[in-house]
Amino acid sequence: MPTPCSNCSRRGDNCLMNLSSGRCSACAGRNVKCDLVLDSLEDQRSELRARELRLRRELAKVDSKEKEMFNQEMASIREVQALEEEEACS
Ligand SMILES: [Zn+2]
Ligand SMILES: [Zn+2]
Repeated sequence: MPTPCSNCSRRGDNCLMNLSSGRCSACAGRNVKCDLVLDSLEDQRSELRARELRLRRELAKVDSKEKEMFNQEMASIREVQALEEEEACS
């Protein structure tokens, strides 16, 4: 179980780490400094790694999609070129 940050333990609040803000949700809501970060640095690191992995996968998806679009465009260009060549030959 994660230990609550000093603000939450003082107030008796439910301390929930908010990884995007680097603070617990209670401290983020009050916009005050949270000392929970130091305790859960490892958690944050693993979350960041997971996020990076997700992002890489997303990028890979985008890349292949763009490649597909690019290939389709190239195919249509070649089709037009082939038609023009046929017309030139006849
Ligand atoms: Zn807290
Ligand atoms: Zn806090």
